[in-house]
Amino acid sequence: MTEHHGTIESHPLGQDEAQNTFPPSAEFRAQANVSDPSVYWRAAEDPEAYWAKRANELRWTKPFTEILDWSNPPFAKWFADGELNVAANCLDRHIAEGIGDRVAIHFEGEPGDTRTITYAELTHEVKRAANMLTSLGVEAGDRVAIYMPMIPEAVISMLAVARLGAAHSVVFGGFSADSLRARIDDAEAELVITADGGYRKGRVSALKPTVDDALALRGGGSTVKNVLVVQRTGNDVSMQEGRDLWWHEEVTAYDDQHEAKGFPAENPLFILYTSGTTGKPKGILHTSGGYLTQVTATHRDIFDLKPETDVYWCTADIGWITGHSYVVYGPLANGATQVIYEGTPETPNWGRWWSIVQKYGVTIFYTAPTAIRACMKVGRQVPEQYDLSSIRVLGSVGEPINPEAWRWYHEVIGAEKAPIVDTWWQTETGAIMISPLPGLTALKPGSAQSPQPGIDVSIVDDQGRRVDRGQGGLLTIRRPWPSMVRSIWGDPARFVDTYWSQVEGQYFAGDGARVDEDGDIWLMGRVDDVMNVSGHRLSTTEIESALVDHVAVAESAVVGADDETTGQAVVAFVILKSQQQIITADEAEAELKKHVATQIGAIARPRQVFVVNELPKTRSGKIMRRLLKDAAEGREIGDVTTLADTSVMQIISDRVRSEK
Ligand code: ATP
Ligand code: MG
Repeated sequence: MTEHHGTIESHPLGQDEAQNTFPPSAEFRAQANVSDPSVYWRAAEDPEAYWAKRANELRWTKPFTEILDWSNPPFAKWFADGELNVAANCLDRHIAEGIGDRVAIHFEGEPGDTRTITYAELTHEVKRAANMLTSLGVEAGDRVAIYMPMIPEAVISMLAVARLGAAHSVVFGGFSADSLRARIDDAEAELVITADGGYRKGRVSALKPTVDDALALRGGGSTVKNVLVVQRTGNDVSMQEGRDLWWHEEVTAYDDQHEAKGFPAENPLFILYTSGTTGKPKGILHTSGGYLTQVTATHRDIFDLKPETDVYWCTADIGWITGHSYVVYGPLANGATQVIYEGTPETPNWGRWWSIVQKYGVTIFYTAPTAIRACMKVGRQVPEQYDLSSIRVLGSVGEPINPEAWRWYHEVIGAEKAPIVDTWWQTETGAIMISPLPGLTALKPGSAQSPQPGIDVSIVDDQGRRVDRGQGGLLTIRRPWPSMVRSIWGDPARFVDTYWSQVEGQYFAGDGARVDEDGDIWLMGRVDDVMNVSGHRLSTTEIESALVDHVAVAESAVVGADDETTGQAVVAFVILKSQQQIITADEAEAELKKHVATQIGAIARPRQVFVVNELPKTRSGKIMRRLLKDAAEGREIGDVTTLADTSVMQIISDRVRSEK
């Protein structure tokens, strides 16, 4: 044990961080939505007033008079006596303001089919869908499960449910019948909206048959009364009489007259299950007014959105929180024009994303480090074939972005001019909490940097005391924020226990971070993954970043495995770049051990380095280190149900065993 109980040692990459910053250019700053640094202290002086002001940028059918009710912590209420319609804020409001002709969605299907949908058209579609759902019995307070590919009807469905004051539970289209059923049962959904299938990797990936299988489980009885099926791929599906309905046959019966009613700000908007990187997913409950306030404000500020001229593209699937907040609610409430792409980045080849950027003139691009590293692995010669000069802001979310991946993204995709916003947040936070502001922040590759105005983040030890600058600890949030999780669906006790019991009076959801000499925040991975090597507490992120810093390495994952002499030892798994001819897999072990030791220090030197072709990832692209730890310690591999490709772990554990 170290002296500072609960703190994490920090061994950042060799360079002097302060020298390595990228301030905004004078031109960018001059045009930025947020360019006055006093926003931070003004918001900190009176966070409630700050959020009330941001909330008033929305359209309320009944204005709120109360801001925050924190009389029963940790159950917060924001703007509780106000009423609004979330969908009308994303649609009707823009029509009333005369921007109905603006493109809301440039849809690009994987096979190459396209649709352009204006705000007026989207509003029309959502109103018809809302009438259809009403006739199927959907009312305020009900739950609707959505199991869809990335097509416009997925967005239309979410907005139609929201328009009626009901709550959606979107389940990622890659999940199995079992996972889908567990989520349907937990939410007690009465309706499932799905599609016959979607296109993925050049093939039809069927969805409706999985819904059938899900509903047939547990003897067939469920809360579901109807299944509404969008026709997308034309694959054969069976329709159960009396239960299943084709969307396109039903919807034509309804007109587009639909008055959006206001609902209380705390009316549930959706339930979404976490990625399950660390264990069993939790049904995170979000409500309306506070959620919409924070996603809209952060989307505008952090991406420097100019709705009149920007073309925004977030590559996230709507099955994840990023798809909810930064594909559906934030961009649409802001009246943005955005791209929605159905398929995978490598179909028909790795140029696909960049061809889409070129085609639509994408100006703001938001993706995940796992995708950036996949593109790095393939090589810069691919994006270099496209005109990416329209890009002016880049974003990253989902994991810490290694400095090396940051630099690649900055250079190859952003032409060294587009600021990168590294956005830290969670399903539970609902909206971005820590991120640079592109017109204000001197960027540091690998750091998420600053809590957003009105957000109170701290890095503390086990006792809840702030750690000194230069130290690492637990990332906590002290004050309630508008888009915070309200509860775990159906299990308030688990909500209190999971997030509010580890550090007295503070929200803590598992991440470790360090604060540097300038006060900037560096995410260090999950504290459960922190390794204890000869009494030194080391972060996974820093060692992984050192490995990715090596020219031959595309991706890496590091775990602490039991070790007789050091307590735990660093075990690394790496993927080499496809084009590299620097080291062979055989040479990699010795070379990379040495590299980590020089970059960080002898203490971080891995005991073993395994070269692998794939890493175990969740369906949202996050590395599942607990499974690698099982393999490294020679144990039976744990629960793999949220893994994207279950065969990966078998290959890795065979590989580890053969070395023993
Ligand atoms: P579960 O909670 O079920 O284990 P999960 O935490 O992976 O799953 P999400 O809510 O999708 O589910 O992910 C949030 C987590 O992703 C954060 O707690 C953090 O660990 C990581 N994360 C997201 N963005 C960043 C970022 N910019 N930098 C570092 N880590 C990030
Ligand atoms: Mg989590």
